[in-house]
Amino acid sequence: MSIKETIKAVGYGLANVAKKPVTVRYPEEKMPIQKRSRGMLSLDLDNCIGCELCFKICPADAIRMQKLGLHLKVNARDEAPAIDFNKCIFCGLCSEICPPIVLHHTHEYDISTADRESLMYTPFDLKKVYLDTVKGNEEEYDIHRREGLTRPPQTAKSPDKQPMTNTQPSAPTKNNDQQKKD
Ligand code: SF4
Ligand code: SF4
Repeated sequence: MSIKETIKAVGYGLANVAKKPVTVRYPEEKMPIQKRSRGMLSLDLDNCIGCELCFKICPADAIRMQKLGLHLKVNARDEAPAIDFNKCIFCGLCSEICPPIVLHHTHEYDISTADRESLMYTPFDLKKVYLDTVKGNEEEYDIHRREGLTRPPQTAKSPDKQPMTNTQPSAPTKNNDQQKKD
């Protein structure tokens, strides 16, 4: 390195010595998250119509439809999505295509774990995320309504992809036996 370059480098260092660092001490400190970021998904289960569009559009094969045993009027098939966050790439397609807008991305991104099983979320687990984060604040999490985006056509589907439905209802816990079998 020439003397000129050395002086330039030292000058650059001195110019920045009094500035605040741009990094933070994660995970104790976190950077502010962007409002349109796509984190963990949540599900307003009581209003899911079981249409399977989220299942059909998922490019990562992270969604399977799970029987509920709830027999809700709005959900004739009595099924809702279960999501494997080991596979999810947080692309947002499932929440965009959902007709009643009941799948919302939250702002939670810190879901790393050594336990892969804990990243398999049943519809009931996704409902708990919804109740804990999104319920009452839907406008904050719903990018379609908030940004006025055009909804995609609700006809997208993979013709050769068939639903993998369970035959037994599952209990409302994340690590239930039925979920482990799946
Ligand atoms: S965000 Fe994308 S990858 Fe994740 S479940 Fe939805 S469609 Fe699949
Ligand atoms: S697209 Fe929406 S309404 Fe249809 S099954 Fe998925 S979560 Fe339920």
